[in-house]
Amino acid sequence: MARELYELGEMPPLGEVPRRMYAGVIRRERYGPPERSMQVETVEVPEVGRGQVLIMVMAAGINYNGVWAGLGTPADVIADRQRAGDPHDFHIAGSEGAGVVWAVGEGVKQLRVGDHVIVGGVAWDESAPDIRLGVDPTASRSQRAWGYELNFGSFAQFTVADEYQCHRKPPHLTWEEAGCFLGGGSTSYRMLTGWYPNTVRPGDPVLVWGGAGGLGSMAIQLTRYFGGIPVAVVSDDDKFDYCKRLGAQGVINRNNFDHWGRLPDPDDSVAYREWLSGVREFGRACWDALGERRSPSIVLEHPGRATLPTSVYVCDRAGMVVTCAGTSGYDGTIDLRFLWMFQKRLQGSHAANVRQTAAVIDLVAGGHVDPCLSLTLPFTDIGRAHQIVYEGKQPPGNVAVLVNSPEPGLRDIP
Ligand code: NAP
Repeated sequence: MARELYELGEMPPLGEVPRRMYAGVIRRERYGPPERSMQVETVEVPEVGRGQVLIMVMAAGINYNGVWAGLGTPADVIADRQRAGDPHDFHIAGSEGAGVVWAVGEGVKQLRVGDHVIVGGVAWDESAPDIRLGVDPTASRSQRAWGYELNFGSFAQFTVADEYQCHRKPPHLTWEEAGCFLGGGSTSYRMLTGWYPNTVRPGDPVLVWGGAGGLGSMAIQLTRYFGGIPVAVVSDDDKFDYCKRLGAQGVINRNNFDHWGRLPDPDDSVAYREWLSGVREFGRACWDALGERRSPSIVLEHPGRATLPTSVYVCDRAGMVVTCAGTSGYDGTIDLRFLWMFQKRLQGSHAANVRQTAAVIDLVAGGHVDPCLSLTLPFTDIGRAHQIVYEGKQPPGNVAVLVNSPEPGLRDIP
């Protein structure tokens, strides 16, 4: 008979599913900064549905979804799910991770117990009417962020994912390397390649905000891989070398400028002129970093409120500002004149489809893109790990927690 609970790092016999598991649990009464909101508790192991697999999570990547879920804003994910009929009064975040398939549900065809997988952070209903009509699954009405809109993400000994979310783990990666890069990697892959005709081409300058962050580290490398010329923006000169090692042509310190935030009222001519002078100076800094007077064909946006007006201004004619987030605030403002007169494109982008996710894993597997793991913490530090990311105090690159992997550096089950 299966044991009730295994300690973290302890391995049950392959395929034996205990009744309970350790998890980083968010509860509504604890909503707030991550160190308070996310606590290690034991909960029941989730059941596997049709087309799904149960995965023993070995390591998981830290990203903002866990921060947002724990803050309870911009969405109260627990209340939203309960309104839709979900009985659980807690949330387990975690939108990326790597582990071992521990049980397979009915209808699963490609995976077996014991397979080593990396899990992509977005799920949908493959039989949804819009998908059957050809809509990209990430834009389907049925699409949900795993570990955010969907419960039972990767911050637990076991997680449940749909079969198509799972990709073979490149054997040379450690669990924590495999678990840390897919969120930023697949999202930036879609942002750079998914929006024809504004896809990155050889010689294209690309401006990457947060070049030393998870998304930015991947975007710099992918831009270079496709022959583009990345220019990175960071908040500290100490991050310059890191971005250049990844392939940035030049790096800009955003703290040398102070025109950030919402656009001033265009009727306030003094404030508007001041903003325009700041944004022009930033545009010149982009040219200097690139080494030539060319504006970025693609601007990879995610800070939102602080940077969107600047992104739209500095983007090249007929270029694209592509955004996947609003880290500094989701109320971004723009001066539409720059958009229509120069026929620029403002494009939303979210997560990645199966093809794009597989493509970025292949690039990592082939050694073309580094997962950029910079910090690995034990599972008991799950709240602290998110707090570090929330406060922007992580070292450049991606942060992971070991979940059931007993020590860093392992590539297989011990
Ligand atoms: P991260 O590793 O924390 O990096 C974010 C970077 O943004 C930081 O390194 C910081 O760099 C920069 N930044 C922070 N505040 C800024 C500001 N006010 N102005 C300019 N830059 C600022 O996070 P990440 O994993 O890269 O994710 C970035 C955002 O994308 C998050 O909001 C995340 O939720 C979102 N995201 C969305 C999707 C999606 O599918 N929609 C997928 C992945 C990530 P400096 O301080 O050095 O400038």
